[in-house]
Amino acid sequence: MEEQAQKLKMQTRDMKKQNMILSQAKTELDKKAEELMQASRYKSEFLANMSHELRTPLNSIILLSKFLRDGLDSSEQSKKAEVIHNAGNDLLLLINDILDLSKIEAGLMELDISSCTSEQITAGIDDLFTPIAEDKGIEFIIEDQIQSTINTDITKVSQILKNLLSNAFKFTRKGSITLLLSLDSKKRQLEFSVIDTGIGIPEVSLKQIFEAFKQVDGSISREYGGTGLGLSISLRFAKLLDGELWVDSVEGQGSTFVLVVPYRDTMKTHTGSNRSHSSPVETLSRQLVQTSAEQAVDDEEKLSKQYNFKGKTLLLVDDDSRNIFALLALFQSVGAQTLHALNGQEALDLLVDSGEFIDLILMDIMMPEMDGYETIRKIRQDKKYDAIAIIAMTTKAMDEDRQKCFDAGANDYIAKPINERSLMQLSQLWIEKMKG
Ligand code: ADP
Repeated sequence: MEEQAQKLKMQTRDMKKQNMILSQAKTELDKKAEELMQASRYKSEFLANMSHELRTPLNSIILLSKFLRDGLDSSEQSKKAEVIHNAGNDLLLLINDILDLSKIEAGLMELDISSCTSEQITAGIDDLFTPIAEDKGIEFIIEDQIQSTINTDITKVSQILKNLLSNAFKFTRKGSITLLLSLDSKKRQLEFSVIDTGIGIPEVSLKQIFEAFKQVDGSISREYGGTGLGLSISLRFAKLLDGELWVDSVEGQGSTFVLVVPYRDTMKTHTGSNRSHSSPVETLSRQLVQTSAEQAVDDEEKLSKQYNFKGKTLLLVDDDSRNIFALLALFQSVGAQTLHALNGQEALDLLVDSGEFIDLILMDIMMPEMDGYETIRKIRQDKKYDAIAIIAMTTKAMDEDRQKCFDAGANDYIAKPINERSLMQLSQLWIEKMKG
């Protein structure tokens, strides 16, 4: 009896010891998980800040090199300015790609599912790639077998397709490129295929091209350009959409990339965090800088023909002299009267004197002492200035930064580096809206 009691006592002691070890291990694991989360938060914060630091000087490089190119008489010099402009745009694409990747990895990328027509997807693509096809003498076919309303994240699907088509055009010298949209009602999925008759991909590389910074051949980057990030972002977007992306290819004959996403019945579902305000111009400006092909289309249009700000007065609030120079020149070129303030307090003082003449305020957010948010809040406290449109200019691309602009009282925001066409469009839109 006593022996049994002794045994039981020992067993209980053993169990207690085991429990203690387990609980210690759990505490250790929780600590490690917390540390990991902290590291991930630091990483995404670091990337957001870095992208801010990089976008600010890029903003003036892109805008001013474009002015220089358009205003120069000597074609030799104008070509050089064009090289600077294109290099700036390439750098911006790279920064956007890296930011996209880090947002996906930090779990910050959101889905925005809404209903759209398949024509909406193909129309944008047609406009963009048909001129390139004509230029290269390649046949470009769009076959839309869906031709109806679908529910998906149109921005992400379009971004994937544009990336696949840019690659197809990049790696095809002759023959044809086809975009095929179809619906598999049994599997309840939408299928998008991009078929080209280009250089093809060797079998050994079929998997690795979906990894970040991987290209079939290191020397390809010299011949064809690119960074090796497009497919890796596209694959992650496809996964985010609960879909798949794969490729079939025969070297020397061509490639077929297939994107499959589930068919959704819901009419309007928003997943991800609460993004109550999402300005269409942000999507627009991203789309505008998406590929160099789009840039070419953008370049052909002359701003002064499209926009007229005669009789309108703009107040620019920014502490960076390069931005002031570039943005004032941009608005003066379309007939606007311009004023500028170097900080929040100066802007408030200027409003007291000239508030009644001002139609639009472009407000930089990152300024010393009184930042853009506080300045906007102060302006909005005075009913006198209710009819003035305020557009915040922010280099921080995270959703909460945009939300802060709206909370302070801005009508809209625009991401830096600023796409001039988007800024003109947005400025015109808000001036008209506030007057009406
Ligand atoms: P990038 O095009 O910027 O290099 P991607 O991630 O989009 O980056 O593509 C990675 C690589 O995959 C390309 O560099 C190329 O080697 C290969 N590739 C992609 N699409 C095609 C295609 N349609 N035909 C041939 N090779 C392709």
